[in-house]
Amino acid sequence: VQSDDSTNGYKGHDMLAPFTAGWQTNDLHPLVIDKSEGSYVYDINGKKYLDSLAGLWCTALGGSEPRLVDAATKQLKTLPFYHSFWNRTTKPSLDLAKELLEMFTATKMKKVFFTNSGSEANDTQVKLVWYYNNALGRPNKKKFIARAKSYHGSTLISASLSGLPALHQKFDLPTPFVLHTDCPHYWRYHLPGETEDQFSTRLATNLENLILKEGPETIAAFIAEPVMGAGGVIPPPEGYFEKVQAVVKKYDILFIADEVICAFGRIGSMFGCDKYKIKPDLVSIAKALSSAYMPIGACLVSSEVAHVIATQSNKLGTLSHGFTYSGHPVSCAVALEALKIYKERNIVDVVNKVAPKFQEGLKSFSSSPIIGEIRGTGLILATEFADNKSRDTPFPPEWGVGAYFGAECEKNGMLVRISGDIIMMSPPFIITSEEVDELISIYEKALRATEKKVEE
Ligand code: PLP
Repeated sequence: VQSDDSTNGYKGHDMLAPFTAGWQTNDLHPLVIDKSEGSYVYDINGKKYLDSLAGLWCTALGGSEPRLVDAATKQLKTLPFYHSFWNRTTKPSLDLAKELLEMFTATKMKKVFFTNSGSEANDTQVKLVWYYNNALGRPNKKKFIARAKSYHGSTLISASLSGLPALHQKFDLPTPFVLHTDCPHYWRYHLPGETEDQFSTRLATNLENLILKEGPETIAAFIAEPVMGAGGVIPPPEGYFEKVQAVVKKYDILFIADEVICAFGRIGSMFGCDKYKIKPDLVSIAKALSSAYMPIGACLVSSEVAHVIATQSNKLGTLSHGFTYSGHPVSCAVALEALKIYKERNIVDVVNKVAPKFQEGLKSFSSSPIIGEIRGTGLILATEFADNKSRDTPFPPEWGVGAYFGAECEKNGMLVRISGDIIMMSPPFIITSEEVDELISIYEKALRATEKKVEE
């Protein structure tokens, strides 16, 4: 596979276009999406694609849920906007906060802070944690530990927390108060003969050593996605969160669960924390919260942290933080309706019914000579291409194996996420069994074409 031919002669948009969400230009011939229907999207030429990433891991209820549209319309007609500053607010915002506090049960949560995105939620967590430690009279407990390959967002602080070098390079990031510890990817990083459990023990020990080296009195919080998303879909190895939580607790370090991708059913439980028995102090959510029909994110804050913040605010002054659109009534109304639908349809059961076919169907291709690992859980999965003879020798990047596979999927009517030689998928929760068959069939076609190309 040659990089100059990595799109297999496909003359559509530039598959290797850089990670830019803000710039809008026709120069790179973008794929322009015009319409969505259930698990499918259509481009401006009418071509239909199975949206295997649910937008950006977010359109949980697919692209045409009329109840979400009705909820937005109704709210737009009654109160399109009011803010939530100075103890003024709106009913949808209050109702949504109440609902979220009831839904999250891994830890008793007391307060909700609304943002417009996952990045803003994680930035807000940093401020909440600092405020909390200032309130407790320990202003030096300021540092954050995140993990290599994590993704927590694109603002300066959330990009600092993220463990992806591309988000740091040329931006003077991460900021000095952010440290990174090991990525918990067993397949890629385990030592010869090391079991998953031993691997988890080693990583927890490394975390503890980092804390001791820096001084536990300087470490404020540890942040983790229950299943890593953009870094390559990495479910935790056996025993990982149990061991890591024990270390964090020992040194009075807060645990922030970044549930932006995992929450509301994606991994087969209502929250990632439920599945992995994580008891966080703070939780970030976004994406499926509104099934992405309106932008919204939120921080859930434990009773303990909320109590300290509330009781100390007289001394420290108000927690001066907020966005014009925090708790936007239209976003909240849509999110409330999404949560109602998740409950009514038992969305976790819906996901768990279709997930085995998705996981097992795709994992059956693991023996392909160009696949190193296929991993995932629930409705999230990644394929990592590598030379299968050694299992984990990456292909030369200039071969563009992942891009070639992605272009083949696209040609055959399916959109996937390409990140080098890692292909990621996270279909809408409403994907049907027949649509999973179609997804697997397009995947197989693209895989066989890519195998042939690599052989050449
Ligand atoms: N955290 C995680 C785990 C994410 O996957 C993302 C986005 O993909 C974010 C945070 C950032 O969210 P947003 O893009 O809404 O700012």
